[in-house]
Amino acid sequence: MRQIEVIQGDITRMSVDAIVNAANSSLMGGGGVDGAIHRAAGPKLLEACRQIVARQGGCKTGDAVITTAGNLSCKYVIHTVGPVWRDGNNGEREKLAACYNNSLDLAVANGIRTIAFPNISTGIYGFPKEEAAMIAIASVHSYVKKETTIEKVIFVCFDAENLRLYSSAIKG
Ligand code: ADP
Repeated sequence: MRQIEVIQGDITRMSVDAIVNAANSSLMGGGGVDGAIHRAAGPKLLEACRQIVARQGGCKTGDAVITTAGNLSCKYVIHTVGPVWRDGNNGEREKLAACYNNSLDLAVANGIRTIAFPNISTGIYGFPKEEAAMIAIASVHSYVKKETTIEKVIFVCFDAENLRLYSSAIKG
């Protein structure tokens, strides 16, 4: 039975196989959830990101990469780069959907069964929150309908507004 849950909380405290980081393309940490994840994980996470940068030179918008998780209680961190919202005419919606799909592809490839997502792009990157919620839920919903190893997807909302929006998006 595959489940999709919406909760309010701090993603760094989630005991799941993988948490997803709303990273930037440098993979070198930043503000918001990215900063919180790197602070909680410690220097091993930055070192793991450095190795990816050395190998492939960062991560493009919409793509995702996977690392170990340093001091976090999850096994992996999947770093995905959400789109910066400009005016909606620059492929922002497709790129946001790609973040969810590519993160889930990596999860499946690594045998991950439980995964927690933050509300990608809805902070510093300025994506309109309601639309981001609809895209996030629709992408994950259609993904988990396919035959995959994923058992549970948790949307971890930091603020009450996103909690309300993701909760109502999940009801359809
Ligand atoms: P982006 O650059 O993709 O917009 P942000 O980190 O600025 O990334 O914001 C993405 C979302 O993550 C926002 O909704 C923000 O409130 C939320 N967020 C910030 N810190 C945390 C945290 N510790 N756990 C979960 N979500 C968080």
